Amino acid sequence: MADFVISPPPQVVLPVAGGGLFPVRRLYCVGRNYAEHAREMGHDLRDPPFFFAKPADAVVTGGGDMPYPGGTSDLHHEIELVVAIGTGGSAIGAEAALDHVHGYAAGLDMTRRDVQAAAKKAGRPWDMAKGFDHSAPIGLLAPARHIGHPGAGAISLRVNGVERQRGDLSEQIWSVAETIAYLSTLVALRPGDLIMTGTPAGVGKVVRGDVLEGHIEGVGAVRTRIA
Ligand code: MN
Repeated sequence: MADFVISPPPQVVLPVAGGGLFPVRRLYCVGRNYAEHAREMGHDLRDPPFFFAKPADAVVTGGGDMPYPGGTSDLHHEIELVVAIGTGGSAIGAEAALDHVHGYAAGLDMTRRDVQAAAKKAGRPWDMAKGFDHSAPIGLLAPARHIGHPGAGAISLRVNGVERQRGDLSEQIWSVAETIAYLSTLVALRPGDLIMTGTPAGVGKVVRGDVLEGHIEGVGAVRTRIA
């Protein structure tokens, strides 16, 4: 028994479709990775990818409720393809990058948009806009050995049954392989890392009681209710 002076935090896990648990280490996110969403946020295309992070324990699994966070009156949904790293590495080549992927899931990069806008304006960090508690609901992880590596397929989000976001994975500005290659030049990726790969157009506000249902063709679904 290690000599911990307080109880160590529990391991964050992502349930795997078909059984098993994927231990979560870090959670990285790509900004602006679909052209239409970049345009709706007022930006140019094909800038180099940029990244931010959420704490691993921001992950919400099992379709559980997401409490409406304090400090915002403009909570936004962003449906995203989540990549789960099974094999780590640094400066991974794009041609080999998909070999490092254990699987994929549908996830939500929940965002305090008003806090983000204020941070952008002041040139301050995005952490409290993006990395707050319960800010990353994620569905079941689908192993790549079962579903392959989806380069195309519809990605969509419904709020209370009404479609809000729709795009296609083929519209990503930076592919999953390119994203892994680039990110692994900035940090050493390790087994257990997750990457949220950006959202298509149609982001918008949610309020308490809303039910969010995201779907990615060939990958899976994510659901949460704002409590
Ligand atoms: Mn996002």
